[in-house]
Amino acid sequence: MEVDCFLYFHIIFKGRVNRPASYHQTKTMRVRSFFAALLLLGMSAAAQLRTPDEFLGYSLGSKFTPHYKIVNYFNQAAAAMPQVMKLEKYGETNEGRDLLLAFVSSAENMARLEDIRKNNLRLTGMLKDKPADPSAPVIVWLSYNVHGNEASSSEVSMKTLYELLNPANAQTKEWLKNTVVIIDPCLNPDGRDRYVNWFNQMVGKNANADIASREHQEPWPGGRVNHYNFDLNRDWAWQTQVETQGRVKKYNEWMPQIHCDYHEQYINNPYYFAPAAEPFHEVITPWQRQFQVTIGKNHARYFDANGWLYFTKEVFDLFYPSYGDTYPIYNGAIGMTYEQAGHSQGGLAAVTSDGDTLSLKDRIAHHFTTSMSTIEIASKNAAKLIGEFKKYFDDANTTGIGEYKTYVITENNEGKRKALQAFFERNGIVYGSVNASSAKGYNYFTGKEESFAAVGSMAVSAYQPKSSLVKVLFEPKSKLSDSVTYDITAWSLPYVYGVQTYAVKERLAMSSYSSRKISGTVSAAAYGYLVNYNSFEDVKFLAALLDAKFKVRFAEKEFGFNGRSFAKGTLIILKKGNEDKLQQFADMAIAYNASVTEVSSGFVDSGFDFGSDKVHLIKKPNVVLLTGRGVNPNAAGEVWHLFDQQLDYPVTLMNAEDVGAGDLKNTNVLILPDGNYKFLQSKDAAAEIKAWVQQGGKIIAFDNAAAQIARADWGIKSKKEDEDKKKDDKKDDKDAYADLKRYENRERDGIVNNIPGAIYKVELDNSHPLAFGYGNNYYSLKLGDEMYEFMKGGWNVGVIKKETQAAGFVGNKLQEKIKDGTVIGVQPLGNGSIIFFADDPIFRNFWENGKMLVANAVFLVWN
Ligand SMILES: [Zn+2]
Repeated sequence: MEVDCFLYFHIIFKGRVNRPASYHQTKTMRVRSFFAALLLLGMSAAAQLRTPDEFLGYSLGSKFTPHYKIVNYFNQAAAAMPQVMKLEKYGETNEGRDLLLAFVSSAENMARLEDIRKNNLRLTGMLKDKPADPSAPVIVWLSYNVHGNEASSSEVSMKTLYELLNPANAQTKEWLKNTVVIIDPCLNPDGRDRYVNWFNQMVGKNANADIASREHQEPWPGGRVNHYNFDLNRDWAWQTQVETQGRVKKYNEWMPQIHCDYHEQYINNPYYFAPAAEPFHEVITPWQRQFQVTIGKNHARYFDANGWLYFTKEVFDLFYPSYGDTYPIYNGAIGMTYEQAGHSQGGLAAVTSDGDTLSLKDRIAHHFTTSMSTIEIASKNAAKLIGEFKKYFDDANTTGIGEYKTYVITENNEGKRKALQAFFERNGIVYGSVNASSAKGYNYFTGKEESFAAVGSMAVSAYQPKSSLVKVLFEPKSKLSDSVTYDITAWSLPYVYGVQTYAVKERLAMSSYSSRKISGTVSAAAYGYLVNYNSFEDVKFLAALLDAKFKVRFAEKEFGFNGRSFAKGTLIILKKGNEDKLQQFADMAIAYNASVTEVSSGFVDSGFDFGSDKVHLIKKPNVVLLTGRGVNPNAAGEVWHLFDQQLDYPVTLMNAEDVGAGDLKNTNVLILPDGNYKFLQSKDAAAEIKAWVQQGGKIIAFDNAAAQIARADWGIKSKKEDEDKKKDDKKDDKDAYADLKRYENRERDGIVNNIPGAIYKVELDNSHPLAFGYGNNYYSLKLGDEMYEFMKGGWNVGVIKKETQAAGFVGNKLQEKIKDGTVIGVQPLGNGSIIFFADDPIFRNFWENGKMLVANAVFLVWN
């Protein structure tokens, strides 16, 4: 019987703790039948498949396995069983570790694996060379260990692989007749090794189950995140990170019917599996919902038989599109999150709040069970899964999901269009250019239906395989079926990229899109060169010029030259001071695809001449970024990645706990990401830093760092504290029974004070260099209710005047608070300044349109 056979492996597995007499016998039998299988295959004994225990030299779960040993295990398995397994390297992490996918199926399927893959793409319409064969095997993709310190699941990957390959396991052989299993043993090897190496250094011969002991207290930044402190389970759609880029490329080549993302949660939680919690995004089909229940019920059978606790339908919702469950769902799969207790604090054993001891072996057993159960239920429903998968894509291709059928990007900023184009390509979203001369559609930036000139504009049609994903990413406002959600509630691409877009209800005819290639000639005889500065692409060029020690100026006001007008912020590179580097400039301009205009004179038609003091020479920033304990690791990582990877501009990382004014002698820019800073709490330390600013330093503070500075009385004042005072004064006028609440409503009552990431229109003073390259408005992802009073002595560069919420959910008590305040400001202080952002403008580095604000703060804003 299937259930028994399946549980049998658990008994063997658990037997290592309390080994039954039959263990050796069972093992010998398995080894014998294995050798018999090898002989049949005519393979040498040197390449024999080994169990994880045999290979590692310890029983799985008695130690944490470093990543290289997991890689070695997969390699030996691939070498031993080439007929039924293929291993592919799809990338390398920032620290040089391999990213792998194992493909496992029957020998018959493996012999035609490429045909299976292509046929699967034909089912979606992504490949159109010939009609799809509907009798295809189902594809199940298991993603282990995306969060590095949720470390049990990469251990499971070896056991899952073994049981799929093990010739003695008749059950998995049966499943693999109609199933291709794709195993990613570790999505985040750098994070996992950070955790595992640390843990192995902390633990003694005997693991300590007391969670107060040091082996359960992970140091900053923790193993959850990748090298640059990014949460890879927020990055699927955006693909800002190298791990995600490699994985999603492969994902789009395969498009599995089922995708499982393996996680761990706090040590006291029971296991979580599908069906997921509300809110579900409305594009999720009844079939996708229904099959989540089918899978959940199959898991429940095994968990019930073992007496294990679990929960479903709570906490883990399906809304934000960049998770390992939602992204696959919006790509036609049954996407699921599985959560085992043990994250970060689990160690090898941990005493939980109910007095039990949770062991790594328990954690492995649970994740192994859902792995096997998922493959089992997929195999049993293979035909139905394939049929529904095809139907899903037929609908997408023929009806176009959602009310809007064409999204037209009329943006004329080439750099921004280029960034969006790269985003479409990373996600396999088909785009083209509009044939019609004009159309009518919803303008994201006015909120109105308008007619517009459309011809030649980049556009995305709803009639395509990625239709659901397109709707989720483009819809102006996402419908929430329930406002208690795990994440941000707004991410519409026109706001994210800051691109003028219209959502059109008709299907517009399109042809292929070609981007304009900018090229300019650069001759050494010129007086100087003008460079457009209005997108993050231009910032990259500026950063490279400064790093190469070019003297770069920018115009404070717009100016005319040779009958053409140039925007404020235009970069001016004069021959004077750059004489020996003109050829280098020409080469770099081509490499960066910069829009360059040669000028023969410093005399302008209108505005300031290039020799004027209103044309500013940019001071080269020497940037220090504070990291370490007290700093939000994700927020620090975003800035680090921005400079190190995207701008390729030097940044010095210092520990926030140790930093003092003495360390800042060689720097002129100090970046404080979201965090809680000790030196701002100490009067003396804060005074030292303040003196450093007054002598010409510049602080750039985000989120809570800005709020902390506001408390330090440096001229910036939070609105919140004022309002809290007013609220206290008013308390008596309130409804006398307002404090009476029903216990069962406690979660829902909480959300009136909640802002889980909504989009607000911010009015910009774009005459200030901080907002150069922007129009009159910027759409900000507002992540908290922090607002600052209008400053008399400073520059209120970004303000929210009336209630200007554009998209997303905001609790009704907060709605009235988020208005009439400054969210982006510059406070001069002596010869220096403090630049603050109430919210993170480069959240998860996907908020593309905020990057230039941060760059301007670093490069352009000087006293
Ligand atoms: Zn996780």
